Amino acid sequence: MYRSGIGYDLHRTHRGRRLVLGGVEIPHEAGLLGHSDADVVLHAICDAMLGASGLGDIGELFPDNDPEYKDADSRTLLRQVVELVSEHDLELVNADVVIHAQTPNLRAHKPLIRSTLAELLGLAPSRVGVKATTNEGLDAIGQGRAIAALATVLLRRADAATYSPAE
Ligand code: MG
Repeated sequence: MYRSGIGYDLHRTHRGRRLVLGGVEIPHEAGLLGHSDADVVLHAICDAMLGASGLGDIGELFPDNDPEYKDADSRTLLRQVVELVSEHDLELVNADVVIHAQTPNLRAHKPLIRSTLAELLGLAPSRVGVKATTNEGLDAIGQGRAIAALATVLLRRADAATYSPAE
C-alpha cells in the first residue's frame, strides 16, 4: 500500500548562471550548470517519486541530450512527474529534502522553498521538509564547486482506504 523512494542530484556551480533551488531563484554570485535550469532539489524529488513508483529515473524521462529540455524549467518536469505518478494511482504522503550547499546560506530561503514545494506537490506545508547543511568546507561541495540535494518521498495507493493487501 505504501511506497518509499529516494533521489539524489548534484550539479557543478558556475558563475553567470541562475541559482534555482526548489523552484526558487536565489540571489548568488554563481548558479548551477546543467542542460535544464539544474534545480537539484526538484531533480532529487522527481527521482524519489519515480523510484517509489517503479517508473525509472529523471534521465530516462527527460534525456539531457534532448533539445526540448534545454534550459527547461524544472517545475514543469516535476509537474509532469506528479501527473505521471497520479496516473499510476499513487498519491504523495510527504516529501523531505536535504540541500548540501556551502554557500549561499539558505536559512532565509527555506520557508519560500518549502511553500513552493508544497504548492508544486499539492501537499500541505506540514508534509514537506526542507533542510540545508554545509559540507564543513570539505570536498567539492564544501569548496563551493557543487550543490547537491537528497530527497525522500512516501507514496500510497490512491485507493488505500479500501485496499486489502490480501487481494
Ligand atoms: Mg539534475
